Amino acid sequence: MRIRAYAAVEPGHPLRPFEYEVGELGANEVEIDVKHCGICYSDLSMWKNDWGMTQFPFVPGHEVVGTIGAVGSSVKHLKPGQSVGLGWFSRSCMECRQCMQGDHNLCAGAEGTIVGRFGGFAEKVRADKNWVIPLPDSANISTAGPLMCGGATVFTPIVESGIQAGDRAGVIGVGGLGHMALRFLRAWGCEVYAFSTSPEKEDDSLHLGAHRFVNTKQQGAIESLAGSFDLILVTVNADLPWDAYIAALKPRGTLHVVGALGSITASVFPLIVGQKSISASPVASPAVTAQMLEFAALHQIGPIVERFSLSDANDAFTHLEAGDARYRIILDNDIP
Ligand code: NAP
Ligand code: ZN
Repeated sequence: MRIRAYAAVEPGHPLRPFEYEVGELGANEVEIDVKHCGICYSDLSMWKNDWGMTQFPFVPGHEVVGTIGAVGSSVKHLKPGQSVGLGWFSRSCMECRQCMQGDHNLCAGAEGTIVGRFGGFAEKVRADKNWVIPLPDSANISTAGPLMCGGATVFTPIVESGIQAGDRAGVIGVGGLGHMALRFLRAWGCEVYAFSTSPEKEDDSLHLGAHRFVNTKQQGAIESLAGSFDLILVTVNADLPWDAYIAALKPRGTLHVVGALGSITASVFPLIVGQKSISASPVASPAVTAQMLEFAALHQIGPIVERFSLSDANDAFTHLEAGDARYRIILDNDIP
């Protein structure tokens, strides 16, 4: 069978119609008929081969929602027609200690949906049954895509850091990931601060759940908040005034990085004296993804989206790269 998709043949080259051949569906595989696919900044970084691991032709897309078209012979818990989502990961070994303890996203053999395989800018995409997550009945299928990578990525540190209702949390960057983090943290019961370089995002940030908006371009804005945060979540992929953000943490506070930035240079003494931590994490395990989807459905949390047709994916990439997306782009599959 041939699958129709959109691919770039070289780094940064336009996405063009592309077809590839697939064999029989594996016993543990699921084939998803793609309805919608969000665009994450990681799709853009992979398209440009910024991380040196992209294989071409490259089919982006790892915020997939759709319905199951077919299941392999060993798949019993999923049925054709069911609404599901697929995120950054498509497979993990299911044998290592990380997989066995529920940290499948930390499996050394975990395969990315767009790393060495063809992603969701396509009519169909295949993945291992364990990484295909059923959507809750009340989920909005047309906007759920961005939850599968962006949403799951910011939800993991909320669950795993132990941050509690009443604690103060900051989110750096009101973009695709950051705007969903504001909503999740507000619903979690935290006092939420948005740190942004874009003053025009203040009203949206407050509507999304931030109690306070901090324009980080203002001199001294971060410094004035010294010693006050339990958790600060970094969702940008740029160099930041790290010492100022570490100073903004309370003792035992954590600066948690999910933005794919190159390196962090920070003074160690403030970390020692305040027993503060810098941590980071990759997306989410299947269980945390399912928990996130339930939490999002319960609290009616979803992304604010702009819609493009899959055939206009190049325009969508240009829009995202310009920093103009408000706040997540979803491509609607228009492959006839
Ligand atoms: P995005 O929609 O472009 O949002 C990034 C935000 O960062 C922007 O909206 C902007 O917010 C801020 N920003 C941009 N340039 C900046 C600069 N030079 N200095 C300070 N802030 C800047 O991107 P995204 O899709 O949310 O992805 C964010 C990052 O997360 C990417 O690096 C992506 O690859 C990574 N990611 C990681 C994981 C993981 O598993 N760890 C998963 C998904 C994505 P303001 O206008 O508010 O400043
Ligand atoms: Zn992503």
